[in-house]
Amino acid sequence: MKILFAASESVPFVKTGGLADVVGALAPVLAREGHDVRVVIPMFSAIPKEWTDRTEHVCDFEVQLGWRRQYCGIESLKKDGVTWYFIDNKYYFGRPYIYGMGGDEYERFGFFCRSVLNMLPLLGFQPEVIHAHDWQSGMIPALLKIQYAHLPFYAKIKTIFTIHNLQYQGIFGIREVQDVLGLGDSLWTDDKLECYGCANFMKAALVYSDLITTVSPSYAEEIQTAYYGERLDGLLRARKSDLFGVLNGIDMEDYDPAKDRRIAANFTPENMSGKAECKRALQESLGLNVQADVPVIGMVGRLSNQKGLDLVDYVIADIMRQNVQLVVLGMGEGRYFNLFSWAEGEYRGSIAARFTMDHNLAHQIYAGADLFLMPSQFEPCGLSQMIAMRYGTLPIVRETGGLRDTVLSYNEENGEGNGFSFFNYNAHDMLHTIERAVSYYHDHPEVWQKLQYRGMTGDYSWNHSAKEYLRLYEKLFEKRKESREEKEDEPNPVVVEIVPEE
Ligand code: ADP
Repeated sequence: MKILFAASESVPFVKTGGLADVVGALAPVLAREGHDVRVVIPMFSAIPKEWTDRTEHVCDFEVQLGWRRQYCGIESLKKDGVTWYFIDNKYYFGRPYIYGMGGDEYERFGFFCRSVLNMLPLLGFQPEVIHAHDWQSGMIPALLKIQYAHLPFYAKIKTIFTIHNLQYQGIFGIREVQDVLGLGDSLWTDDKLECYGCANFMKAALVYSDLITTVSPSYAEEIQTAYYGERLDGLLRARKSDLFGVLNGIDMEDYDPAKDRRIAANFTPENMSGKAECKRALQESLGLNVQADVPVIGMVGRLSNQKGLDLVDYVIADIMRQNVQLVVLGMGEGRYFNLFSWAEGEYRGSIAARFTMDHNLAHQIYAGADLFLMPSQFEPCGLSQMIAMRYGTLPIVRETGGLRDTVLSYNEENGEGNGFSFFNYNAHDMLHTIERAVSYYHDHPEVWQKLQYRGMTGDYSWNHSAKEYLRLYEKLFEKRKESREEKEDEPNPVVVEIVPEE
C-alpha cells in the first residue's frame, strides 16, 4: 500500500509532545511491513541543522491561498525505510516558535494542508490512503473531498484522521479561513464546516474523513460523552461506526534501560542494580538530598491543566509530608511554573523542577525515579506512563483514557496489576493513592519488585497497533472498491461538489 502521513511534528526532527513520538515511530514500523510509507511535516526552523543539511530539494511550486501566491519548496530525506517530505516556506515556518503565536495559525496550517495535496501530482505519488494527524492536518480530508475529488488523480484517495488530543481543535473565524482556502458559503452549515459559529479544522476532519481513529480504546468511548467530548461529542456519536481506538506504542529501542546511553547506568528486569545508580545520579545532578531509601516521584510532561497539576497544587504539602522527593520536568502554564518554582525553594533538597525541553533529563527521570505521577484530567493515550514502566518506575495514574488502558492498579486480593490508580478527579483520592504506593515501597519490597518486573517486561511496542492500522487501511481499500463499483453503475456521473456520506 502507498500511505502518506501528514502531521505537524515527528521525531527525530521536531517534537513538542506525544504526536511526534507516534508519527516518528509508527511510520517506520509500517514501512518494515513492506508498505511505501511517506511522511510530510512543515519545515520548522526548530528542526536541527544536522537534519536540514541532509535533505534534498525535490521541487517547488506556488500555492494559491485566496489572493496570495506563496512559495512552497519540497525537501526530502530517506530514513528507516520512510521518505520524509518537508514543506518549506520561511514566512510560515521559519519563525522562532512552532505553535500558538502570530495570530495566523489558520493561514500557516491552511497553507500546509493545501501544499500537501498540491505536491502529490508533482511527486508522481498517488497514495491510496492519506493518514492525517490532529487539527493542523485536519483540512486535508475536507479539501480533498470538496475541491479535489473530481480530478482523476485524487478521486480514489481515501483518508483516515487520528485525534491525538480533542482539546486542540484549530478554531478560527469563518471569514479568515474562507479568505485563505476559498471554501464557498454553502459549505458553512453545521453538517459540514461550520462549528458553533466558527471554522474548526478538527471538525472539518471529523466530517470529511473516511475513517476516524483516536489513540486509545477508552478515549474513543469517552469522547462520545459531553464531559470529554469538547463540544464535538454529538458529531463523534454520529460517526461512531467509523471511529476506532488504537492504542499508541512507544519506541522500544529509544526507551530501553538495557542500552540507553543517556542514563547513568544500564539495567534489566533481571539485574536492577543500575537503577539505584540512576537514582543516585539524578538526585545528585538536581541538587536533591542523596538518599537511597526516600522514594522519588517523577513527573515529565506539559504543565497544563490536562495533566492534573491542580490536584498536585492542592495537596502538595500533604504529599511532601510523606518524606518523598519530587522531580518535575515540563513547560507550559505560568501557574504551574510559579507553583513548582515556589515549591523548589520551600522544600529545598526534596523538590527539583526544570522548565525546559530536555530529552536527556527526561530519560534520566524515567530511569532514576521510583514512582511516576500522572493524575490527568483526561489523557488520550499518554506515553510517559508506558515509558516509566519500561524503566521499572511504577506509575500512579488517574483511570482515564489511555492511562486506564495501560495501567492496572495493584490488587492485593489476586496479585494482579502493574501500578497504582484512582478513579475520581479528586486531590485526596490522588493523595491516598500516593500514600498507598509509598507504603508498598517501604513495607512490601517483594510486591514492589514484582510490579517493576511486570512493568519492564510489558509489551509497549507498535507491533499490535501497526496491525490494527493496517486493518483499517484495508477497510478503506474495500471502500475504494465499493465506491468504484457504484460509480461504474452510474450512467452519467456528474460530480459538482462532494458532500460527506450520511
Ligand atoms: P502529550 O502528548 O499530551 O504531551 P504524552 O505523554 O503522550 O503527552 O507524550 C509526552 C512526550 O513528550 C513524552 O515522550 C515525554 O517524555 C515528552 N516530554 C514532555 N515534556 C517534556 C520535556 N519538558 N522535556 C523532555 N521531554 C518531554
